[in-house]
Formats: sequence, C-alpha cells, structure tokens
Amino acid sequence: MLKDMTPSLRSVFETAGLDAMVFLDLANLRYLCGFTGTDGALVVTRERTCFLTDSRYTTQARQQVLADGVREYAEKVAGIVALLKECGARRIGFEAETTSFAMVGRFKEKGLPEWQWHPLAKELLPLRGRKHADEIAAILEATRISAAAFEDILPLLRPGAVEREVALELEFAMKRLGGEEKAFDFIVASGTRGAMPHGIASAKPIETGDLVTLDFGTRFKGYHSDETVTVAVGEVKPELRKIFDTVLEAHDRAISEIRPGVALKDIDATARRYIDRQGYGSYFGHGLGHGVGLEVHEFPTVSPRSETVAEEGMVFTVEPGIYIPDLGGVRIEDMMQVTADGCRPLTRIAKDFRTLPV
Ligand code: ZN
Ligand code: ZN
Repeated sequence: MLKDMTPSLRSVFETAGLDAMVFLDLANLRYLCGFTGTDGALVVTRERTCFLTDSRYTTQARQQVLADGVREYAEKVAGIVALLKECGARRIGFEAETTSFAMVGRFKEKGLPEWQWHPLAKELLPLRGRKHADEIAAILEATRISAAAFEDILPLLRPGAVEREVALELEFAMKRLGGEEKAFDFIVASGTRGAMPHGIASAKPIETGDLVTLDFGTRFKGYHSDETVTVAVGEVKPELRKIFDTVLEAHDRAISEIRPGVALKDIDATARRYIDRQGYGSYFGHGLGHGVGLEVHEFPTVSPRSETVAEEGMVFTVEPGIYIPDLGGVRIEDMMQVTADGCRPLTRIAKDFRTLPV
C-alpha cells in the first residue's frame, strides 16, 4: 500500500477511466511512496502498487518504499512496459507536466499498439496540495533553520560586505544548523540591484543607505522553506521607506484574507489593489505567491490567473514586491498555512522595518 493513496488519486482513476498510472516525477515518488533516490518509477493500478528502480537503488527502495512490490529493471521503459503488460492495463495515465516528450515516445514504441496513453496535468495538481501534519513539521524545521541562520549572519550585513559572500555565509549557516541543502540560489540584492526581483547575489558590495533584499531557504526531510526579508543598511531615502511600508501593508492585508473558501486570485488582488492605489501598480509584475513543499515552487499559484480556492492544509507564500529601476526594490515573503478558520505563518523572521547599524 502507498503511504498516501489519497482520495484525489482515487478520483483521478475514476474520472479519467484509467487502468494504471505511471509516476516518474521524483517529488511525486517521494510523496506517494517515500522513495528519496534520484531515479525510479511507481506504477499504480486499481489493485496494487509497484515501485521500480535500477540496481543502484534496489536495496534503498526495499527499505524505504511503501508499495506492494519493489522490482529492479535493467532498462526503465522496458521494465515499466513489462509490468503494465502483466497488469493487463490498456488506458494508462502519466504526468503530463514532467514526463518528457521523448519518454512518452519510448513508452508508445515499446508498449502495445492498442494502449492509450492519457496525459494527466491539472488532475494531478492538487495531489500534494493539502499538507499533512508530518509535512508541516518538516517545513517548520526548515523555517526554523532558515531563521536561525539569518540571525547568525545579520552582523555581516554592513557596508562593504559583498552580496555573494553574504549568500555563502547564509548557505553555510543553514547547513551547519541541519539544513539538507539550499532551496535555491539565494537572492541578495542591494541598492539599485534590488530592482531585479531575481537578483542572484553578485559581486556588488553593500553600501550605506542600501535596502538589501534577501530571499533564501533550506530543505529539511525533503521539504523547503522560502522567505524574503528586506532590511535597511543605515538610513535610507524616504522614497525607499515608503515603498517598504507599502509592500508590508500589502503583505499584511493579503494575509488577513486567507482562510478556507477564499479564491487565491482574490488574495492576490487584495495586495495588488493596495500597491496600485499607492501608485506602484506597474512595479509589481509577478504573482503574489506559490505553494511550497517537496518543491520550492509547486501548486497552488497565487496570482491573478489562479483558479484555486484556499483549502485547509494548503501552504503558500505571500510575497508582494515593488521594484523601481535605478532606485531599488522591496519584497517581503512569508509562508502561510491555511488553517480551519484562517491561516498561520510558518516562517519565523519578523518583517517590520529594520535599520541595521553602519
Ligand atoms: Zn523566496
Ligand atoms: Zn517564493
């Protein structure tokens, strides 16, 4: 049996009329059967589940994987196809978003001509959407490590410190505190570089009067943290302070809307409307947030195009930003968990305006 044969997985079987599903995506493999290696496949039929992998991972899989069977293959596609033949499957679902075109071609080539390969895209999105208690616990540990690492490196944020060195110290601190791996390439964007929403840490030294945006996270038991803090190094221009206050207010207002039943696009709209009314609408180009879990960016998307409604157990970020070319930028990001009657933050660092001594 799988660790989690969720109702959503069962309903995919029913609505798509499938005999089998083939999972290859590593995050889905980890979620569904606990496998943490880097290559394998899970075949789920209505009756049983079987995990397949190559000889590098057989021993690990036998210890780790919660499935009815574990098999070793010499060649992946041939191994999966042989199993599907044994099951008598005819209509087979696969992960349309992550299975490559070439891989689907090989399945078709090696499988029986009468098989129907059914792409699953939107149907699979909600699979990992509502987090269980053990998933929340892992995320909380990741955010705890992130926050402790941030406090550790805060004294380094001084004029003359190079962005890339700050990022490196942060990464090191997280590993030392028990983080498995950095969640992504950290953003450390100071001064006018703050106008780049994805300003990966560069060789620029931090200067007095800079706002510095740091976007960082770690991984614990496969689960990620993702948090953005913007701090002032010394006194900043009044306009920068105004931008900061605007972003923080947009962030707070969006969070106050989060509860089950609210459309995520309306949460986005709350932040966007406020930023727009302050005259910065054209400087907030990205969506308000995204789901976080086994992947740093996953379902659900919080944006004007989002079609999802908040449900208890969902975890997503709220990260409004304002980016003004040649001036600078501010982003403030927290991870929120939707609770039965509202939400709670999973990230720990206080987001009030803070001026670091120079
Ligand atoms: Zn982030
Ligand atoms: Zn984010």
